[in-house]
Amino acid sequence: MEKKFGFYKMDVSEFKDYFFEIKVARTVLSIQEHHTWKPSYATFNGNNHFELQRNMKDYHVHHNGWSDIGQHITIFPDGDIVTGRSFERSPACIFGQNSNAFCIENLGNFDAGGDVMRPEQSESIVQVTAVLCKKFGLPINTNSIVYHHWFRLGTGQRNNGSGGNKSCPGTQFFGGNKVSDCEAHFLPKVRQAYDNLGNLSVHSTIIKYVSVSSAKLNVRTGPHYTRPIARSPLSRGVVVRVFDIANNGWLKISSKEEHWISGKFNSEVKKVLIRSNKAVSRLGPGTEFQRSTIYSKDEELFVHELDGTWYRANMTGDWIKRTDLSFVTN
Ligand SMILES: [Zn+2]
Repeated sequence: MEKKFGFYKMDVSEFKDYFFEIKVARTVLSIQEHHTWKPSYATFNGNNHFELQRNMKDYHVHHNGWSDIGQHITIFPDGDIVTGRSFERSPACIFGQNSNAFCIENLGNFDAGGDVMRPEQSESIVQVTAVLCKKFGLPINTNSIVYHHWFRLGTGQRNNGSGGNKSCPGTQFFGGNKVSDCEAHFLPKVRQAYDNLGNLSVHSTIIKYVSVSSAKLNVRTGPHYTRPIARSPLSRGVVVRVFDIANNGWLKISSKEEHWISGKFNSEVKKVLIRSNKAVSRLGPGTEFQRSTIYSKDEELFVHELDGTWYRANMTGDWIKRTDLSFVTN
């Protein structure tokens, strides 16, 4: 795995290991497939993954005015994968459909007459989509795997491409960009790849989320401080999912492994969505305090519940008004 400009680049097998290892606290309910259209194959020289990713980020930040690159990952013509936006943040990829989504940009122009997708890239797209479905516990269907083309531009309403839509991910993307094309040509490949991944499912019921409040919190193989250390400790501010609670208050933080933390040194956080564009956080709980961060609609974050009027963002410590937030139940 290589790193440059803050992005990681990896091949498919590295991606599998990497992605099953990392924790993603955000709830992902759909995987979006896109093509970049521009840059297309003509701009890819086999060696400039990072530069192209940085250019896309610059365009999203400076031209579109976004806080970061829109997509979570880009898949290149040679099948390599480069990371983009933090997986803990909603993407900026389909208007109105971003809050619980994971966004894949496939580099190329896959409209008729554009680029002919290389087999390495098509294999990578299939494998990565299967890995994401497994990781997030998603069924392989056209609700959890979606094409940009199926949503009306400007409203984000799903109309399956019946008017006012982009062609993205391209009219030649795995045989076409319609729902029926996806069902006939893309999903069967994803299902096959999914079955070959074996039993790596991490999906389970989440009881709540907690944020670590001490500088270091040990993770142990059972619900008691005498049990051996299971993995590296958690640091302050990290949000983890809780899958079980022992009688003594210890919390199980992995669905598939015996990873436990003490019930002390952490506090419950709520998952919220920002309700409007340009919602502003402040340095204290009141409009007299200085403005801090400007959020976009449907950005997801974790907050500490305090007096019911102002909430404190977990990562930044900024304060946000109750009326700017809607609460997510999962
Ligand atoms: Zn798109």
